[in-house]
Amino acid sequence: MPPTVAFLSAEMAPFAKTGGLGDVAAALPRYLHRAGHDVRPFLPWYGHLELPAAPRPVPFARDVPVRLGRWDFRFSLFETALPGEDLPVFLVSCPPLFGRREIYSARGDEHLRFALLTRAAVESCQRMGFAPRIFHANDWHTALLPLYLRTHYSWDRLFARTRTVLTLHNLAYQGVFPEWAVADLDLAPHAGLLHQEDLRAGRVSFLKTGLLHADAITAVSGTYAREILTPEHGFGLDGLLRARAGSLHGIANGIDTEIWSPERDALIPARYSAEDLSGKDLCRSHLLQSLGLLPRPKGPVLGMVTRLTAQKGIDLAAAVVPDLLAAADVRLVVLGGGDPGHVEFFRGLQRRFPGKAAFRTGRDEGLAHRIEAGADLFLMPSLFEPCGLNQMYSQRYGTPPVVRRTGGLADTVTHFDRRTGEGTGFVFDHPTAAGLEWALREALECWSDRRAWRRLQANGMAMDFSWERQAGRYAGLYASLS
Ligand code: ADP
Repeated sequence: MPPTVAFLSAEMAPFAKTGGLGDVAAALPRYLHRAGHDVRPFLPWYGHLELPAAPRPVPFARDVPVRLGRWDFRFSLFETALPGEDLPVFLVSCPPLFGRREIYSARGDEHLRFALLTRAAVESCQRMGFAPRIFHANDWHTALLPLYLRTHYSWDRLFARTRTVLTLHNLAYQGVFPEWAVADLDLAPHAGLLHQEDLRAGRVSFLKTGLLHADAITAVSGTYAREILTPEHGFGLDGLLRARAGSLHGIANGIDTEIWSPERDALIPARYSAEDLSGKDLCRSHLLQSLGLLPRPKGPVLGMVTRLTAQKGIDLAAAVVPDLLAAADVRLVVLGGGDPGHVEFFRGLQRRFPGKAAFRTGRDEGLAHRIEAGADLFLMPSLFEPCGLNQMYSQRYGTPPVVRRTGGLADTVTHFDRRTGEGTGFVFDHPTAAGLEWALREALECWSDRRAWRRLQANGMAMDFSWERQAGRYAGLYASLS
């Protein structure tokens, strides 16, 4: 029997997603479920969720009290399913904490929100009589899980054989709160189990607590698992990670080819395959037209779909792309939201290059797919990238990525060599404008050699980034722990 799994995440596509975590938290449970695991994902019932059908209340899990320090909350558990799947998804309803339009909020109670999610998942397992062999937590939001199991629930024989896995999707977000939050988290009696230096410095970190207590830790690519052991990429956690290196595993994300495949993507105007790319040409003209850009450029259409944060190398793009737009008959299509300075920059670019540059902000799943399909080159010059999904999507869509050699980008994209015809994109090493400029120059030269370009596209489209294999690696890890 494959191990049973309770899977906790702050995001899960298509219900709640701000980035890759949402995609991964939907795909991994689904593929584990198909491989025969009893997987039960837990997600907050945020106020804005659009659900396919009314979720069903779970018996014995109604108005369950959870005390967090001086706060008394009650949650109720509801069951829904992923669209088109028989995988159950458990929604934790607690309107005072989750009944908001946003997934992450700035109201000062984030620690309570995600501590409640974590506690509610454990209490729900108790009420469902579900003894997971694996509790799988993701990122800082649910990283208190191993400690709660070790303290609040250590009495419960239901969890006697349970092991914990913590997956690191992005160390830049750690869930650090002032020390007074320890009481709110109901951890004051167990302060000895928290990171002592942090406490002395007047703070508590969800992620560090998870790193101290999880049975196994995974990072979302092999290169990222190595990089985070260094001060450059460890975000202050490298020492702790080095101490736990024996329990740290790199497992790259896969991509969900049922959702992200040009052969069957319902969100793009024409479907296509490596054998017949004519649909891609249609997607390209449709994309340009729908965004009011001039048709039929001689050069490539550059696409970006991204959170606008420093991590994504937006400053590098900002240093290079304007000159390229001025000098060459190319187009730029950007979809992204986040940092107001970056939003302003792209708005300015759109004004300065009418007909050549288009920028859309806000979440738009359909446009994200249409850019993957309609662009010729996908820009992802990230300063660091734990795994990254868009570079894998873009290879599948025949849209070679331009990436920096870091984290998952280094593991999933190889630089195209026109001599040997091998490679799937353009990879630069140094996080500088000169590095990106070099990669774009390589890309433009290759673009003018149609045969080489076709070969490059075919190489990318033939890559296997399937979740089946990656979910199998998680299953192997689970089995080794239980
Ligand atoms: P990260 O998790 O750091 O944001 P990833 O590349 O792992 O980066 O995942 C990003 C995911 O979010 C992709 O599925 C991408 O298409 C999606 N995405 C990012 N911004 C938007 C947006 N504005 N609208 C729709 N999808 C977006």
